[in-house]
Parts: sequence; C-alpha cells; structure tokens
Amino acid sequence: MNDKSHVSLEQHVCLVCGVAFDTGSILLDRRLRASMNRHTATGWDLCTEHRKLFDDGFVALIECDPKLSGSPSSNDRLRPEQAYRTGRLAHLKREVFARVFNVPIADGQSCVFVEPGVIERLQSMVVPATC
Ligand SMILES: [Zn+2]
Repeated sequence: MNDKSHVSLEQHVCLVCGVAFDTGSILLDRRLRASMNRHTATGWDLCTEHRKLFDDGFVALIECDPKLSGSPSSNDRLRPEQAYRTGRLAHLKREVFARVFNVPIADGQSCVFVEPGVIERLQSMVVPATC
C-alpha cells in the first residue's frame, strides 16, 4: 500500500532533544500529488518542554560526539543536522553559563553543543536544573 499523500502534517524537530513534534500546520502538495509522507520535518524549533526552559532563562547544553558529528562549517559552528547527539543534556541558567564558560550567550540562542566530558565536569561544579 502506498502511504504517500498530498497532505502532510508539518513537524519541527526540537533542537535540544531531537524529538519531532507537530507544528499544527498541514502541508499541501501544490499539484495535489501524493508526494509526501504523513509527517514532514521542515525545520528546527524547540518542543514545548524546551521552549519553556528557554523562556525561563535556561540554555541547553547538548553533548555531541565530535567523531560522529559532521565537521563544522566554515564559521566553526556545528549545524544542528550535523550534530551527533549522545543523548546527554544539561540546562544552565544563561548567567551561570556565561560565568562558567566566560562567554556571553546571544539572546536568541537556546542551545550550545558541547563535547563529551563537559557536562560531567559541569555537574561537579554546579547543579544543573533537572531536565
Ligand atoms: Zn525538546
């Protein structure tokens, strides 16, 4: 059976946990061809839970394995789709992050990719919010 359809539920993928969630939008094939899967991920966003943490002033630390992640683009920032998530996460208050890492966080920045070991080191220094 062909489960392609001319409509698809739009999904975004959470930057922090990598979980796809419905945006509530429906995508329609312009020529009404059955070209799409039931769900289509169109971009990155934050899921409800991580949006709330972001709104509460937390920045998410996402542990990535550099060996399994793609190489950073020319501006040296790992793109979300290249990151190989190890599944380890931590949330830090933005001002705590700025103090610990000695780097300011841009207002719109919701997450930072870190190398294995960083979160472990942090947990021995500060107590991150449970996620
Ligand atoms: Zn999430």
